[in-house]
Amino acid sequence: MPKIVRVDELTDTIIRIFVRHGVSPDNAAPVAETVAAAERDGAHSHGLLRLPGYIATLKSGWVDGQAVPVATDAAPGLVVTDAANGFAQPALRVSAPLLRDKARRQGIAAVTIHDSHHFAALWPDIEPFATDGFITLAVVNGRRRIVIWEGKQKILGTNPMGFACPRAGRLPLVWDQASSVMAQGEVLLASRRGSPLPEAVGLDADGNATNDPHAVLEGGSLLPFGGHKGSSIAFMIEILAGALAGGSFGFEDRSAAYPGAQTSKAGMVVILVDPLRVPGNRYFERIESLFAAIAESGVERLPADRRYAHRERTLREGISLSDHDLATLDALLA
Ligand code: NDP
Repeated sequence: MPKIVRVDELTDTIIRIFVRHGVSPDNAAPVAETVAAAERDGAHSHGLLRLPGYIATLKSGWVDGQAVPVATDAAPGLVVTDAANGFAQPALRVSAPLLRDKARRQGIAAVTIHDSHHFAALWPDIEPFATDGFITLAVVNGRRRIVIWEGKQKILGTNPMGFACPRAGRLPLVWDQASSVMAQGEVLLASRRGSPLPEAVGLDADGNATNDPHAVLEGGSLLPFGGHKGSSIAFMIEILAGALAGGSFGFEDRSAAYPGAQTSKAGMVVILVDPLRVPGNRYFERIESLFAAIAESGVERLPADRRYAHRERTLREGISLSDHDLATLDALLA
């Protein structure tokens, strides 16, 4: 029988699961909030589906649940954070006050995070900054999963990029997307459902096109979105999160030495810009005229609209957990 729970109840349960598996309370809270936010917003590929992967990774020793991230004031516009082989969300949480303060004082600031594991959607990381009034751009790299520029072997992660911008009196506009045609989480969902993938999503282990999700997950690779253009975006993210932030490159992944490990140990960059620091730009007025023109052009759905609508419903009615979800939570708590 499906069960309806409140978002805060689900968050508490996930925190208890993480703590039960050796994660410090300080680290458990931000990761659990991210997982619960995905369920709240109907982004199921990065919600409870991922929980067994987090726990398997903790058990493998690949990620340190007790890590203590350290944020350093590296330059007037730069925070540099060592995630100490822990999850990315606690590292970002530790960095956020200094990052916001710098961006507010100077108009722009960035944080680089290295030695971090990001296994989640990116929008929960960036939406709060846009709610606080900052235009926000974030990138994360990961272990190798995609081929680029028509190469034969996977070399880069599915490297997501997220963008968020504040709007007056409304929730921010947020988009967040993988560099692959389809995110790995969606391939996992298709594999669990036993459904084929659409055409031109992935290759099998021999480099042949396939729509079998198992073949993509087991030794195969994903294709970048938009051919050479998506390849270049994925490559840019690899440079920012790998070479600039100091995370591992996708091809340097060592997780295979930790059976059960599912997260990527890599890097992250978040850039904040205060739109009110550009004299005379009339940002909030201008952006609404842009959205009005977009609506007039026939667009009915903006990025994040689907999530916001789902969020409104679940905050009112609760989250419906399936029998499978409940069994997963029980098993991980046991
Ligand atoms: P999607 O293709 O599902 O969505 C990408 C963006 O486009 C979303 O912001 C979505 O908004 C928006 N969108 C979708 N359809 C429309 C439409 N018709 N009109 C307007 N906007 C639309 O995302 P991906 O599959 O590429 O990525 C899914 C998730 O996977 C992301 O959250 C990403 O961060 C995560 N990921 C994480 C990785 C990691 O290493 N941690 C690696 C790769 C991906 P909406 O949300 O409202 O649907």
